[in-house]
Amino acid sequence: MAVEHIDCDILIVGGGIGGSGLAAALRARGYSIVLVEASKDPLDTARGDHIQPVVVEILDKWGVLPTFMARGAEKRFGTRYRTPSGELILDCPLENLPLPHPYYLVFHHEKIGQAFLDLAAENKNFRLIRPAWGRDFETKDGDVVGLHVKLPAGGDAIIRPKLVIGADGRSSQVRKLLGFTTDDYEYQSPLVMLTAPHNQEDPHNDLTAFMGATGMTFRIPRTDRHWKFSIPIGQDEIGWWKASTVDDRRKLLKARAPALGDLETSIIGFYPCKLANCHQWVRGNVVLIGDAANSLHPAHGQGMNIALRNAAVLVNNLPPPDKIGDPAAVRSALAVFEAFQKPIMTRVLAGNHQRALEMDNRDGTAIVESTRFYAAAAKDPTQSALFTWLTTGYPPRTS
Ligand SMILES: Cc1cc2nc3c(=O)[nH]c(=O)nc-3n(C[C@H](O)[C@H](O)[C@H](O)COP(=O)(O)OP(=O)(O)OC[C@H]3O[C@@H](n4cnc5c(N)ncnc54)[C@H](O)[C@@H]3O)c2cc1C
Repeated sequence: MAVEHIDCDILIVGGGIGGSGLAAALRARGYSIVLVEASKDPLDTARGDHIQPVVVEILDKWGVLPTFMARGAEKRFGTRYRTPSGELILDCPLENLPLPHPYYLVFHHEKIGQAFLDLAAENKNFRLIRPAWGRDFETKDGDVVGLHVKLPAGGDAIIRPKLVIGADGRSSQVRKLLGFTTDDYEYQSPLVMLTAPHNQEDPHNDLTAFMGATGMTFRIPRTDRHWKFSIPIGQDEIGWWKASTVDDRRKLLKARAPALGDLETSIIGFYPCKLANCHQWVRGNVVLIGDAANSLHPAHGQGMNIALRNAAVLVNNLPPPDKIGDPAAVRSALAVFEAFQKPIMTRVLAGNHQRALEMDNRDGTAIVESTRFYAAAAKDPTQSALFTWLTTGYPPRTS
């Protein structure tokens, strides 16, 4: 059977939020784009579903917000830290901040990905090849000049890109096969994620962290009057959770935080947590984005947000379509992107790691320390304003 030859400006490997978001952002910029996605299933619903205000502004500029709102995205107006019995420790409300969009957007992970893919398809030069693996690369002088794939309908194809974006997630094949290296850190406590319908009203639709003596319990807004709960647990507790009944979980959650009341939970899944920080994001005409470039602990809800923030900087620094055939222009653009954006993200990752350790370390002393810190911040208007500001994803204000 003849091999199909597919020429394109940009090849994106991986159609998670990073890859699909890029394809949507680039849909009206005149590039021919091929996206190769390994899975035929929708994205995992439990993963990133809270979009920071700084990223909502980016989505607005990309013209995707109306689609998100029409498909059911909801607004979340802040974060609250509470004692297990519900007393407020620290309130971080967003709605009075001087921002174009002073709220988080809450939208199921798989719906974000699907909305991006549907918008990407408005580009008549966009092609989604799914399911197909991006792992059989052909390289020349440090650039990827081809990707061999098996087409879903049968037959083989070779894709000839000018620029390659590796957006294939935490276990990235692009990263491994093309020689990128990482610093890794394995956290000790996996997360169990639960979901439950609302059992009380919360018109402010906040994310609430209950600071219990045996660890933090996060009550996270979902759409359609549901919450998600994220709890760090011991490896040896997974068996108990898997065998648990609704009643077992109701009792356990109530013991952790009586203010949660009676909840009818179901388990969404268990998530081992790992930090993998790539030493470089760029090699030749290849750039990594999203979890492929840096996967981080979900403690601070930042992975998807970082992927989209980096995507926004990347799309604005690509060579225009009439210059993308020039390898020197591609290398120079990617080098500028990395030099500008990587140091910013190194700082974000360091902050995220601190928060992750706080959550990972389930001993009571660390929680007491954190509670003291949040209580002190609540008494100091400057500190609590800064703390609230930092939840938006915008850099600290200089005036
Ligand atoms: C429990 C949990 C909760 C989270 N909550 C938040 C949150 O609230 N906010 C937030 O910002 N982040 C959150 N995150 C992190 C966020 O989900 C991830 O950072 C984000 O989804 C990464 O997107 P990605 O596109 O880089 O990677 P992925 O979503 O992993 O997508 C990679 C895609 O590439 C495909 N693929 C893999 N290998 C290949 C290959 N060789 N060829 C072709 N395709 C391939 C996969 O099938 C997949 O679709 C959370 C994570 C977890 C685990």
